[in-house]
Amino acid sequence: MARSILVVEDEPTLRETLAESLEAEGFEVTQAADGRRALEAFRQAKPDLILLDLMLPEISGLEVARTIRAESRVPIIMLTARDSEIDKVVGLELGADDYVTKPFSMRELSARLRAVLRRTELVPDTTVPALVDLGRVQIDLAGHRILRGGEELPVKPKVFELLAFLLRHPGQVITRDQLLERVWGYDYAGETRTVDVHVHWLRAVIEDDSSRPALLKTVRGVGYVLRRPE
Ligand code: CA
Repeated sequence: MARSILVVEDEPTLRETLAESLEAEGFEVTQAADGRRALEAFRQAKPDLILLDLMLPEISGLEVARTIRAESRVPIIMLTARDSEIDKVVGLELGADDYVTKPFSMRELSARLRAVLRRTELVPDTTVPALVDLGRVQIDLAGHRILRGGEELPVKPKVFELLAFLLRHPGQVITRDQLLERVWGYDYAGETRTVDVHVHWLRAVIEDDSSRPALLKTVRGVGYVLRRPE
């Protein structure tokens, strides 16, 4: 299945050039010329990645990024004409995954884009809200907190990261190797046993009865799957 990309750029020549090059590389491309249409296209086309120009008429690229991030974890690469640290910092704080400064070559953009897509190879669910209710606990994904009755529960950072990753891939069976790679990092020289230990800790937090997990199931010989929250 072709990966789909939403190209948001008000400058028609650049937008067309980007769309043509990306289509030639096998991507499905949707185009938007301003922030309002970008948000419409994002909600309709549900792209796998968004290329987002920072300087847009009507609604700025930063505002568009903020709005999209409140609704979705879809990867965003910002296109900025200004080589300004502030823009980069703000863009990344708003949840952009990367940025490319104009002028850029298609080769450079393509490399960045593929790197971001590789990081999201297990296609994340882009509709996961910032606050997820698992019944027993509530997960504040943006704030990196697990709450019960409004109180923050102390959990190890890796336990939270594991949960956050699973929440973004609900209903997908994920192997221990994939979890090690994605949660602990490619360079981590640990063992899959590490994953099992963290799953054990995580179940103690989210399950009513962690000896009979209802949310985070073991798929024997493969890995784990988190039930899609209702
Ligand atoms: Ca522009």
